[in-house]
Amino acid sequence: MEEKRFRKNDNSFVCQNCKKTVEPLGYSSRNHCPFCLCSVHIDINPGDRACECQGLMIPKRVETDAKKGFIIIHECTKCGEIKRNRAAHEAKVQPDDIKLLIKLTAGDN
Ligand SMILES: [Zn+2]
Ligand SMILES: [Zn+2]
Repeated sequence: MEEKRFRKNDNSFVCQNCKKTVEPLGYSSRNHCPFCLCSVHIDINPGDRACECQGLMIPKRVETDAKKGFIIIHECTKCGEIKRNRAAHEAKVQPDDIKLLIKLTAGDN
C-alpha cells in the first residue's frame, strides 16, 4: 500500500467572490478562482481544509519565481492572514487569468 503524502482535495466549487463555477484542476488541489483569483481561507496546510476561518481571501499582489512561476499573495479579508499560492495559469481546464496575474505583478501604480 502506498500512502499519499500530499493530500489532494480537488473538487469543483462556486467562487464566493464572482459566483462562477470552478472545475477541478486535475493534477493538484485548486485553491483559488481562475477568473478573479480569489480564494477562501479553508486550509492550514495545502489541501487539508482544516481552517475554520472560511474568510474570503483576495489577491493582494503577484510575485514571479524563476522556478515556480507566478505566486499569488492572498490576504484573508476576515483574519488578515497572508498566504502564498502558486498560480495555475498553465492548467488545461480554466487556467488562471494571465492578464490579471500580470496586472497584479505590476502593482497598483
Ligand atoms: Zn472568482
Ligand atoms: Zn482567515
